Amino acid sequence: MPGQLIDGKSVAAAVREQVRGRADAFAARHGRPPGLEVVLVGDDAASQVYVRNKERASGKVGIRSNVPHLPADTTAGRLGELLTRLDADPLVDGILSMTVEAFDGDSWWDEWDSDRDGLPLAVQIDPDAMLSQIRAGKDVDGLTNESVARLVCDQPGLRPCTPLGCMRLLAEAGCDPQGKHAVIVGRSKLVGKPLAHLLLQRNATVTIAHSRTKSLADVVQQGDIVVAAAGRAGLVRGAWIKPGAVVIDVGINRDAEGRLRGDVDFEAARERASWITPVPGGVGPMTIAMLLDNTLDSAKRF
Ligand code: NAD
Repeated sequence: MPGQLIDGKSVAAAVREQVRGRADAFAARHGRPPGLEVVLVGDDAASQVYVRNKERASGKVGIRSNVPHLPADTTAGRLGELLTRLDADPLVDGILSMTVEAFDGDSWWDEWDSDRDGLPLAVQIDPDAMLSQIRAGKDVDGLTNESVARLVCDQPGLRPCTPLGCMRLLAEAGCDPQGKHAVIVGRSKLVGKPLAHLLLQRNATVTIAHSRTKSLADVVQQGDIVVAAAGRAGLVRGAWIKPGAVVIDVGINRDAEGRLRGDVDFEAARERASWITPVPGGVGPMTIAMLLDNTLDSAKRF
């Protein structure tokens, strides 16, 4: 029997609904909605679409979002000043800032905004230096060094949105990671590494595979949980999936016809998996939902 689908769209809708309730409660208590600042550097049409979508998603759940818009030639110093000011502003609960790592090439918001194909990058700005201006308490992306340290040291903090989305989808499939062997394909700062820590915290035994891993098939075959986050269409073959495994496909790739494809050979993998996420409609919708959720977690501190 084919594996059951983990429906990211409906889980994301449920998360957004919960966020809406929390945002209403926050506003009633504090006399203002939670506030999210999306710092945008650069000036092209695709960026504008992305930002409008972000504002719309925030507005729908009762989060006030603001988009400070800086020109493409903004210096690191000027951006740093803005981030420092926002960080000190008590009306700002979360700050999101675009980074080269997070937004290079096709990325998760292709599922959110299927018209875009790559944003211009402000190459003169070092993403790590930029992010370090944001304290962990407002880092709704969970990507600053302080947030990473908190995650690795098992301290409370905001976690990266896509790995959080993966964990939520595992829960949806009724999959408790404890004692399970989780194989993650991909070791990025954005997905693979933070997810490994979230799974470790839930007592999984974790293997991270990457581009230099030998015998990827043998490694993947050991996974009770398989998470593919490599950005290589169809890399994970169906025959590699251990019967009954739960498969989470983070990958977003475009095929020759421009359609979205995951990193997993979906149809074949579904024959062996107990649960599996589709692409699109799996992890993609979760990322923005978890960003909104993180914004409320951040707002709760005040
Ligand atoms: P990345 O390019 O930063 O990292 C890719 C990782 O995959 C690297 O660690 C690399 O070692 C590994 N890898 C590459 N080729 C491999 C191979 N042949 N065998 C084994 N490992 C290999 O990418 P990322 O930012 O982590 O994103 C990964 C994928 O997930 C992309 O397709 C991206 O678009 C997608 N993504 C989706 C969402 C979402 O919300 N669904 C969010 C973030 C990223």
